[in-house]
Amino acid sequence: MRIEDARAVVTGGARGMGEHFVRRLVECGAATFFCDIDADGVETVAAATGVPGTVADVSSEADVERVFEEATAALGGPPNVLINNAGIIRDGLLLKRDRETGTLVPFPTARWNQVLAVNLTGPFLCMRAFAQRCVEDGVQPAVAVNMSSISRAGNMGQGNYSAAKAGLVADTVVWAKELGRYGIRVGAIAPGFIRTPMVESMPPKVLEKLTNPVPLGRIGEPEEIWKAIAFIIDNDYFTGRCIEVDGGLRL
Ligand code: NAP
Repeated sequence: MRIEDARAVVTGGARGMGEHFVRRLVECGAATFFCDIDADGVETVAAATGVPGTVADVSSEADVERVFEEATAALGGPPNVLINNAGIIRDGLLLKRDRETGTLVPFPTARWNQVLAVNLTGPFLCMRAFAQRCVEDGVQPAVAVNMSSISRAGNMGQGNYSAAKAGLVADTVVWAKELGRYGIRVGAIAPGFIRTPMVESMPPKVLEKLTNPVPLGRIGEPEEIWKAIAFIIDNDYFTGRCIEVDGGLRL
């Protein structure tokens, strides 16, 4: 599919990589809509880019339905591109020994559920709403891109995040198999460490520790992830696979 023919929805578009994807889609001539849970961020990015956006929580079924209704109206038709980008991190060990008391502190169930809700249920709800409209309205070709992570291989301190990101790649395969007959392709990207506000705010020593094991010796840029998205949108024979863009780093 040509990017300029896209009517795209980006989740988590008010910050970090999502904001970059919104800007690049518009530059490429795609009609674009975004959502984010951060109301101030939505207002700022919408004002700066002229791209319509809405405040929504991707883990809420009602919010996701509303996003696709608003997007369909704003884009002049049902979306044919979905960038499932919104994600959160709530890290911690399964069991942690309290330094002062010596007691074992188990990882809180609420933090497990929060990450699964946003990083796995969220993309499921968006994929379902997206695909339903594509099939009902005969929109094809269509393509969805799921943002996984290098942590899908299993990263210490990220049991919740690793499970969600691995699950998302598994479902990329499932949805590609189920939806290919409707002309809908589904791809995933597993980025390594990418320069976003969160990564940039880390102390230089922590950043150095992160980049040392990367064969290319640096963190990645949002533009390098955008290039993988552009490839997935553009290549009509790509579906059900995950592209790793991580500078060669393996966890
Ligand atoms: P980010 O800077 O934290 O931006 C994510 C955006 O999503 C934020 O604006 C965030 O709002 C929003 N969001 C959070 N929960 C949401 C929800 N329930 N519904 C809608 N929006 C929500 O993240 P990023 O670093 O650009 O990462 C983007 C994606 O790539 C994520 O899926 C992440 O897991 C993945 N990834 C990132 C890296 C990396 O190095 N940065 C590496 C591998 C994979 P708030 O700011 O209010 O939370």
